[in-house]
Amino acid sequence: MKQRLVLLGSTGSIGVQTLDIARENPDLFEVRVLTARRNWELLAAQAREFDADAVVIADKECYTPLRETLADTDIKVYAGEEAVEQVAGAGDTDVAVNALVGYAGLAPTVAVLRAGKKLALANKESLVVGGETVMKLAEEHRAPILPIDSEHSAIFQCLAGEESPVRRLIVTCSGGSLRDFTPEQLETVTVEQALRHPQWRMGAKITIDSSTLVNKGFEVIEAHWLFGTPADRIAVLLHPQSIVHSMVEFEDGAIKAQLGTPDMRMPISYALMFPRRAFRPDERFDFLAHPTLSFAEVDRTKYPALDIAYDCLRRGGTAACTMNGSNEVAVAAFLGGKCRWKEIVRAIEYALSHARFAAQPSLDDYAAANAESRRLAAEYLRL
Ligand code: NDP
Repeated sequence: MKQRLVLLGSTGSIGVQTLDIARENPDLFEVRVLTARRNWELLAAQAREFDADAVVIADKECYTPLRETLADTDIKVYAGEEAVEQVAGAGDTDVAVNALVGYAGLAPTVAVLRAGKKLALANKESLVVGGETVMKLAEEHRAPILPIDSEHSAIFQCLAGEESPVRRLIVTCSGGSLRDFTPEQLETVTVEQALRHPQWRMGAKITIDSSTLVNKGFEVIEAHWLFGTPADRIAVLLHPQSIVHSMVEFEDGAIKAQLGTPDMRMPISYALMFPRRAFRPDERFDFLAHPTLSFAEVDRTKYPALDIAYDCLRRGGTAACTMNGSNEVAVAAFLGGKCRWKEIVRAIEYALSHARFAAQPSLDDYAAANAESRRLAAEYLRL
């Protein structure tokens, strides 16, 4: 039977690649619902191509042009962030792909899990902000969460079939676009430099997060929630080639790694097809074209965000939510030319040192912590 998909964030980097998988496998997937924030033209084209039942555009200002473009079809058109949340859990779909970016992904994640549906999760911020709540909901509603993030997909693949305890998760890290910059060069980073990721072509926000290593810190938090591994047993290892996507070390000293060319369609298809794999005959890894795989320590002085994320994970409660909200504001400010690259992490530190802290947060507490952290980051950056 075909899996009926709701794809949240279909116009983004992960969204477009998810549709590549659906296009390659028309006998396995039926694309029912697609959502975007503002890119109504691409959303309309995708909805036509896949003959979707419904589309949602989060920004209500884009509703009219979207509806007019699709007026000659039966495709239902909705608008608003609440509508994104509603379609995430409602209707006759089997699996939701959450490819939204940022805090906006949390409410739809919750809706999918409450509906007891399978969640293919790219939106790592859902787990960074509300990991404890999200994992509880998944358990209560017996809703499986399949990771799309390549490192977590790698760990998930390494853990398949294993029953023995894990000694360590080793999350690999490319180092991002500014890996080889000196501390002096990091003072004057341009948006263009920070957006030039050596291995992956991704959305702007995650590319900046990779350059500050906020992304790697978020991945440590994500790994903790997905696999139940404590912070002190999750290591980060610099691996500039991005061929080893991550590793698991077991108690007998054995290490399993998952390798391959950096291509997000692999983890996306694994999340959608698990426990099976996609048939991709052209995907052949050439070891001789990659004769050197190297590993090194991350420079934690140059990139303090990694330790900040570990601290937030150890503190628990709303700490990581505060880190996430202030980071979102600071990244948007950097991309808009309103602050320097170095100020992204300083804004996070400022928010964390001034924000209220809730140890056992409810969803409302996360919303309040998110709002407060945004206000604090804006205050620090004088926006
Ligand atoms: P993009 O910015 O490329 O795409 C984001 C998508 O979400 C777009 O469809 C966008 O619509 C939509 N969107 C953005 N904000 C909102 C909002 N407030 N409400 C509703 N819809 C919204 O992001 P990526 O695809 O790069 O990343 C998506 C998630 O996947 C992130 O959490 C990221 O960390 C994670 N991830 C991404 C990887 C990658 O290779 N890109 C790798 C691993 C993880 P519109 O186009 O109209 O703006």
